[in-house]
Amino acid sequence: MKGLKADGTPIRVMAVDDSPVTRKMVRKALEPEGFEIVAEAGNGKEAVEIYASTLPDVITMDVTMPIMDGLEAAGNIKKVNPAQKIIMLSAMGDSDIKADAQSRGITDFCTKPFKPQEMVDKVREVFNR
Ligand SMILES: [Mg+2]
Repeated sequence: MKGLKADGTPIRVMAVDDSPVTRKMVRKALEPEGFEIVAEAGNGKEAVEIYASTLPDVITMDVTMPIMDGLEAAGNIKKVNPAQKIIMLSAMGDSDIKADAQSRGITDFCTKPFKPQEMVDKVREVFNR
């Protein structure tokens, strides 16, 4: 089970995406491997607001969302907690995203569409770092 920590408890994940379908895909990929989805958010503002009360180990963060986009939200969360692990979910062809994300301290990306195993491996890799 790739979603469990050394002590047997689940790796805690917050899934942020304005698409309920994508949030469901993240959940369906991760839960069978033992990860726990501790929160979902539909835009960046919501993610920032619930972050402090959920304290996820890893965040999967969509880029394009209404109200507040994922880059701004991730940047805000990194200001609160520079050690927070965040994976940007970028659509194919979003080449500008990486430089912008990196300037905010985010170095991990997963391209949409993703295979369940890719998501599992990525979250595990980022958690281990
Ligand atoms: Mg989106």
